[in-house]
Amino acid sequence: MLILTLNAGSSSLKFCLIDVATEDALADGLAERIGLPSGAVKWTVMGEKGGVEQDMKDHKDALTIIMDELRKTVLKGRDVSAVGNRVAHGGPNFGEPMLVTDKVLREIEDLAALAPLHNPANALGIKTAMEMFPGKPQVAVFDTAFHATMPDYAYTYGLPLEICKKHGLRRYGFHGTSHRYVAERTAKLLGKPLEQLKIVTCHLGNGSSITAVDKGKSVDTSMGLTPLEGIIMGTRCGSVDPGAIVALMEKEGLDAKGLNALLNKQCGLQGISGVGSDCRDIEGAMQTNDAARLAHDTLCYGIVKYIGAYAAAMDGVDAVTFTAGIGENSSNVRAKVCKKLQNLLGINLDEAANKERSKNDRLISAPGSRTAACVVPTNEELMIARYTAKLVNG
Ligand code: ADP
Repeated sequence: MLILTLNAGSSSLKFCLIDVATEDALADGLAERIGLPSGAVKWTVMGEKGGVEQDMKDHKDALTIIMDELRKTVLKGRDVSAVGNRVAHGGPNFGEPMLVTDKVLREIEDLAALAPLHNPANALGIKTAMEMFPGKPQVAVFDTAFHATMPDYAYTYGLPLEICKKHGLRRYGFHGTSHRYVAERTAKLLGKPLEQLKIVTCHLGNGSSITAVDKGKSVDTSMGLTPLEGIIMGTRCGSVDPGAIVALMEKEGLDAKGLNALLNKQCGLQGISGVGSDCRDIEGAMQTNDAARLAHDTLCYGIVKYIGAYAAAMDGVDAVTFTAGIGENSSNVRAKVCKKLQNLLGINLDEAANKERSKNDRLISAPGSRTAACVVPTNEELMIARYTAKLVNG
């Protein structure tokens, strides 16, 4: 069974073609600058990189270019069985992936109030796929769904409850598909049932979130109502005193639009360092640039605090797992975090294993370490394909 996964942004479309039987990704890629000048589609098909530079007026143009390429090179007469669509916000009602019906699609669109940057684009991606693949099942996989198991005291903000209920203001959490995948792989790596483990999963990319996974269920997570809360990110601020937001409004004269742009695009590693949002650039500069050093220290300190808090929330922790661009690649961030937690959690870092470059799931703590430290490359597309196949097969 071949599943196409799609992740639609407002001017981008990521795709992956997965053979569910072997769990191999046959092709993946990205259409960029949809609806803008200088559009381009890049792909890797059966290990070969390729692409075209072509303007695309909309997502349908983009998907047409992608499918033409896939039909020519890899599908060769075979057909996609179903499409799995990544959706950022599932609100309070979607705790599981869903087969897309008109009603489900309307609800995804209605959730734009909670995720104005993401849900309208995700809904547009689904509509495009419905047009391109009439009659084929479409599945929506929500970034928030894995966190639906959080207890009420973990997702409640200290704001008037009535107002929160009226507007759906609460912690929802994101990156759920990744946290779930990584927790499952960590259990396999440790050779123990997931139901017996307390794991802190650290998804550290351009957007970052940390989750407490107790017996396979998310019980708390660092992102909140929106993907702004938590540790500092590439350009997002992470948690700040709400009083600072009020001060920004008063002293910088910012309105909601200006605040949104500042908090999402000009903060985090970028905002503190002035060097850039990319962790590699920060690590390249931090020996000589004190602002870059400060950005890196602030990031690592934030990660340490969440891991400590979640160890307390779960009354212990068996493993800390790192994933996504920074988590999988920055031995520097992992070393700083693990060393700081050596006494509290008994993480005994294996320095050589930490420095090793590998695409495999691996332990970076020494044998006998009280808490295991692991690196697990995430694979959200595979999870989306698995969910899609499961729903389609009933
Ligand atoms: P996204 O959230 O966009 O999916 P990724 O998971 O791809 O992001 O992560 C991007 C981040 O990973 C960037 O900050 C990048 O600097 C960082 N990264 C990638 N490779 C390395 C590396 N070798 N060392 C440090 N950071 C890295």
